Amino acid sequence: MSDPGNTTVTPTNGPAVATAHALQTLIKEISGITQPEEQEQLMASGNFDADIVVIGAGPGGYVAAIRAAQLGAKTICVEKEYLGGTCLNWGCIPSKVMIASVERLNHVKHASALGVKVEGEASIDFDAFMKRKDKVVLAQRGGVGMLFKKNGIRHVEGFASFIDANTIEVTGKDGKKEKIRAKNFVLAMGSSVIHIPVPGLEGGRKEGVWTSDEAVTADRIPKSMLILGGGAVGVELGYVFNGLGSDVTVVEMMPNLIPMMDSDLGVELGKLLGRQGIKIRTGATLEKVEKTKGGWKCYVKKGAETEVLEVEVILLGVGRKANTDNMNLEKIGVKLHRRGVEVVDDSLITSVPNIYAIGDVTGRIQLAHVASAEGIRAVTNIIEGKSEKMDYKAVPNCVYTVPEVSSVGLTQSEAEAKGYDVVVGKANFRIFGKAMAIAEQDGFVKIVAEKKYGEVLGVHMIGPHVTDMIAAAVAALRLEATMDFMAETIHAHPTLAEAMMEAYEDATGHAIHKM
Ligand code: FAD
Repeated sequence: MSDPGNTTVTPTNGPAVATAHALQTLIKEISGITQPEEQEQLMASGNFDADIVVIGAGPGGYVAAIRAAQLGAKTICVEKEYLGGTCLNWGCIPSKVMIASVERLNHVKHASALGVKVEGEASIDFDAFMKRKDKVVLAQRGGVGMLFKKNGIRHVEGFASFIDANTIEVTGKDGKKEKIRAKNFVLAMGSSVIHIPVPGLEGGRKEGVWTSDEAVTADRIPKSMLILGGGAVGVELGYVFNGLGSDVTVVEMMPNLIPMMDSDLGVELGKLLGRQGIKIRTGATLEKVEKTKGGWKCYVKKGAETEVLEVEVILLGVGRKANTDNMNLEKIGVKLHRRGVEVVDDSLITSVPNIYAIGDVTGRIQLAHVASAEGIRAVTNIIEGKSEKMDYKAVPNCVYTVPEVSSVGLTQSEAEAKGYDVVVGKANFRIFGKAMAIAEQDGFVKIVAEKKYGEVLGVHMIGPHVTDMIAAAVAALRLEATMDFMAETIHAHPTLAEAMMEAYEDATGHAIHKM
């Protein structure tokens, strides 16, 4: 690998940026992809600059723009910052790159369990660690730019605001303004971090108050850290900084970590992260904080007890706000609600008929793959003149800690609350040959099905590689598969997926390997 030092510049408060000539080399180096042939821009129909203008180039917006162009629409995508949006620059991708390094470090540290001898002590080179993260982000971002070129999409850099329902004004970073007229718009402006109020808490990076934005662009490994929020973002960053050597405490208001998932998963994750040294405080709140010389004194309240902790950094793992400010949305008739842009129904149309909204900006499900699926649905509806609705029945939800967590469909308590006669099947990874072979035996698969027809309602997993395994469960739910059908589906041996088959078998009452 070549030294990225000359090709990237990392601003202190943002992800790395690359010089144009270096980017192509970097993409080729990381992904092996060369510059594609550029497609010519199409002509827009009528008196418009474009058939569809997409505002925002996150996983919602850039995917929407590409599909619109593939379907023959003249497409413009306006982005005020970086191609790839939150997900690629500050969210999904940088956090997973960081997780991968920590996981690899832990593999090396524990290699002797597999009979592998490592001389000397394995440790993180923080500078190289962050540079690798920047490189992957840059390569991915450049890849989106290349796809825009290949599909003949014009990428306009700047902040978009509406003049009327068919016209936006884009203000570039240099202050230059451009008016763009389009038949249709897709709002894909995403969301941004906010500081949730905590009595006594003030300041930003310099004062040791971080959000996920500061965490993925960290300039150091803090000695100690309190993470507020035990959702996906909080536990993933907790896993990273604990692995890097910080003394991490996670404070979660709900009774379990990852409260949006089946409670069995949250309980198990709490136990397994606790075993790695992360202090888990569930059912607890951060009552107030006081500034100290080296950081923060934190008052963590659980029931009648208050625990006082001193930490260098407080990481706010919760709190995001839809990006709707200063765009004149309400002026042109787009209705907003407390969490973002209101869509009339799951066809993703807003209160203005030629304007659609997708992804985080709607304040609904805040996941990259949902934003992308919504983007495809919205532009397909526009181009084909349809009002087909999104199907949210089988949306996978993943947490990329080690062990990983994944889930699709109804949790046990949701299924019970809906009045289903619920049957549950479970299988622990511990007994399976593949889990033993790779020395990753923690966790389980849990199946939630209904008794009458045996339909699988939900699949919930914690353990090795379960974020990849969930795809099979997503297909099962979409196809309305029964637990018998899934139990009879042949799974390769030896694989971790055998635990899924065993859990389906357990739900039918015939688990082969149950003692
Ligand atoms: P965004 O990605 O936020 O993109 C919106 C874009 O619009 C931005 O680039 C912004 O600059 C631009 N924009 C805003 N206003 C304007 C304007 N007026 N004019 C022009 N441009 C504008 N999700 C997952 O599914 N998996 C994960 O593993 C995952 N990990 C995450 C980890 C972290 C730390 C965080 C913070 C989030 C994570 N997410 C994850 C959530 C995921 O990042 C979001 O759900 C996803 O980015 C939403 O996509 P979007 O296209 O709706 O918006």
